[in-house]
Amino acid sequence: MDQLVYLNGSIVAYADARIPIEDRGYQFGDGIYEVIRIYNGRPFTLDRHFERLRRSADEIRLPLDIEQLQADALSLIERQGLDEATLYLQATRGVAIRNHAFPSVSTPSVLMLVRPAAPPSDTMRQQGVRCLTVPDDRWARCSIKSTNLLSNVLAKQQAVEAGCYEAIYLRDGFMTEGSSANSWAVFGGELWTAPKSNYILGGITRDVLVELAREDGLPVREEPVPARRLPQADEFLVSSTTAEVLPVVELDGRPVGAGRPGPVWERLHRLLQRRITAECRPELAEAR
Ligand code: PMP
Repeated sequence: MDQLVYLNGSIVAYADARIPIEDRGYQFGDGIYEVIRIYNGRPFTLDRHFERLRRSADEIRLPLDIEQLQADALSLIERQGLDEATLYLQATRGVAIRNHAFPSVSTPSVLMLVRPAAPPSDTMRQQGVRCLTVPDDRWARCSIKSTNLLSNVLAKQQAVEAGCYEAIYLRDGFMTEGSSANSWAVFGGELWTAPKSNYILGGITRDVLVELAREDGLPVREEPVPARRLPQADEFLVSSTTAEVLPVVELDGRPVGAGRPGPVWERLHRLLQRRITAECRPELAEAR
């Protein structure tokens, strides 16, 4: 199946999908987005992603018909016909002559595309990944899933150039999150992650992991994690829609705990896979 694109209400061939040069997403980063994982042809936690899209849209005062978009996303997923994939959705304030203030009349530009998933490799899971810390120089409205990602892009590039998977932001002496993932530390059997606030993106994977951990009796502390405690962490993890949950075995060049993926990561990974199976491969869940 050729690559399809949903653009402003129509599904078109990739080559025919065009955005005008004065789209405010292009000129100002005046837009929001979502990334949704598809397993076995079925979207995982679709409702939660569209709820977050609604919150982001409200925050930037972008009028979107969320129910219609959710229905359109399902049609695109079906038309594209990929089993293991991600759906990218972006909505901007539309096209207008360049001027910072909102245009008096504008229609949001909405784009969606479904691409084959690029899941983490077995090696990343078995051996873990490396991370480095960077100052959190983002604005103070990080809970909006905005297409303004310049700080995140620069932080990720710094990580990649240092042979790392992810950059972990530190703000005022506390861990906030990664450049494209939420971050977690384990201290004495307790799982810690930054509380939801304007300083982090409330990750859908984060929410699911908090729920799964608590249901399974694993203590979770949604509390600020001081950067100075990080060297004492027994385990360190990152989570996102595309990475699921990954063990971090080295932070700023020092081994985390025993320097290999730990039991809390293994437990969360297993719980998450079970939840994915239950939601997206129910026939397998019942057979077990
Ligand atoms: N924080 C940031 C800054 C991110 O970009 C992402 C992924 N888009 C996440 C956290 C994880 O969110 P989710 O689990 O919803 O993918």
